[in-house]
Parts: sequence; structure tokens; C-alpha cells
Amino acid sequence: MKCALVRPDGTTVHTERHPTDAGRGPDAVVETILDVAEGLAGKARADGRDPVALGIAVPGVVDEAAGVAVWSANVGFRDVPLRDLAAERLGLPTVLGHDVRVGGLAEARLGAGRGTGHVLFVAIGTGIAAAHVVDGAAASGAHGAAGEIGHVLVRPGGPRCGCGRDGCLEAVASASAIARRYAEATGAGPTGTGPTGAAGSGGLTGGGPTGTPASAADVADRAAAGEPAAARVWAEAVEALADGLATGQALYDVETVVVGGGLAQAGPRLFDPLRAALHERMTFHRRPRLVAAALGDEAGCLGAALLALDAR
Ligand SMILES: [Zn+2]
Repeated sequence: MKCALVRPDGTTVHTERHPTDAGRGPDAVVETILDVAEGLAGKARADGRDPVALGIAVPGVVDEAAGVAVWSANVGFRDVPLRDLAAERLGLPTVLGHDVRVGGLAEARLGAGRGTGHVLFVAIGTGIAAAHVVDGAAASGAHGAAGEIGHVLVRPGGPRCGCGRDGCLEAVASASAIARRYAEATGAGPTGTGPTGAAGSGGLTGGGPTGTPASAADVADRAAAGEPAAARVWAEAVEALADGLATGQALYDVETVVVGGGLAQAGPRLFDPLRAALHERMTFHRRPRLVAAALGDEAGCLGAALLALDAR
């Protein structure tokens, strides 16, 4: 859990991190969220500041209008009325947001998309999810599930996705999928089974020399070094991402595509071929700027604060 006290102008005056420890179950995670939020409000008051609103962002399916964490694979939320629980505990106006949508909000307003009105933020980590931000606001969809670009079908009959369908974008091109597909191609076991989020550093660190389990970052390194299996898996991921982003551009016609999450740390090894492949797919569509996220793994935290300040 990344936590912060954020001023109305978007500057951060204090940050904290706490383990989610999702293995304890959703009830314990909710208690920790409430305890941490209460502690932050107390810290603000002790420092002579006046907390005016609370923003919380969680992964999964989030009903922002109702303030309910509807569903989360990683944390196990099932219809948790998190907004009202927090508002009751802290006595502050509270909003509940979706981790990737608020991350996109922060990147669009304060980060790599700053100054452009139409931004598509895409977080690539364990999974792939997106937020379409127009003039500083991200639409959440009729059921809280907008932006699931990871489940755009890019390879019919391709690898099985966690959602149960074959050939979704994230089954080919998430950091986890890249590590898994490389392991399958080389006969080594996959890595990256730790707790990682779509907007986090999922699957991009660790790994050893050739022949041992490799992360997505290792695959990028080995592809750059000319190892054929790594080059193939990496190129397939880049092509699939270009297909997914081209679909996004056809739908949204944005000025800037901001890519964040663990895979963005691959830098030019990702962005150079991806930009070329994306632009290749543009016919009459305007080519969007393709840039790396600027706010790192605190984007979601900052975006939750922006959402809360907006709703005040
Ligand atoms: Zn899927």
C-alpha cells in the first residue's frame, strides 16, 4: 500500500508504505486500509494540517459511484463498501477509485501526459489495464470495468488468458506472460510469482543467467543480446502490444499514450520497437505520442488524492 498526504496543488508532503499481505484475507486488508488512513489523518493533524478528504484506490472491478470494491483477484474483495467504511471511520469525505484509472489520472494531469487533453494510460505488469483520461477525468464504464485493454483479443486461438479466453493481449504481452512464454520456449521454469500489481513492478526484476528462470526484463536483455528464443518472445509481445494500442487509438484518438507498470522499465528496448510497430498500424488515424510513465509506482496514490480533491 502506497500512502501519502497530498496538498490541493498535487504536491506530496508525506509518504508511507505498508505491506498489503493479501494472504490474510480481504477483511484484514480492509482493516489495515482503515487503520493506515486513520493514522495518516492523525499525522496530518499532528503536523498542523487539516485533512479535507480521503481517496482510496484498489485493483479489480471498482464501482466508483457506489464506492464499492466489487471484485479483486489479488486481494479477494467481493462487494466491499470501502468508501462508506472509510468515511464512517475517519469522518472525512471519501472517494474510492480504481488503481489504474487513478494512476492514469495522475499521469495525465501531473506526469507524462501533462498538457495534453486526451491520454490513454496503459499499465503493463502482471496484467494489462488502461485508463482513458479526457481533460483530467477517467471514465469508469457502466459497471466499473472500463479500460480492460489486456482482454482485447489480439491472437485468436493464442495462449490461454487468466479470464478463460484464448488470445487476449495480456496472455501474450504482460510481464508475467513474457516470462512464462520464454520459459515455455526454453524449457525453464517461470519466475515472477510474487505479489505484483498491474501498475507495479510485476515480473520485471530478478532472474538469473541463461538456462534459469528469466523475468520479462531478462527476456528483454537476452533479446537485445541476440538470443533467438528471447528475441522471438519479445518481438511477439511488442507486436501484440502494438495491435492492442492500435485498437485503443482507433477507439479513443488520443494525443498521448503513456505506458507504465513494470514493463515500461525496459525503456528503449520496449518503446523504440513498439512506437515503430504502432505507427506502422496507423492508416488514417493520427499517430499518438508514445511515452513512458513519469510518476513511477506512486501514480496510483497521487491519483487517489486527486480524485478525492476533485470530489470535495
Ligand atoms: Zn483475457
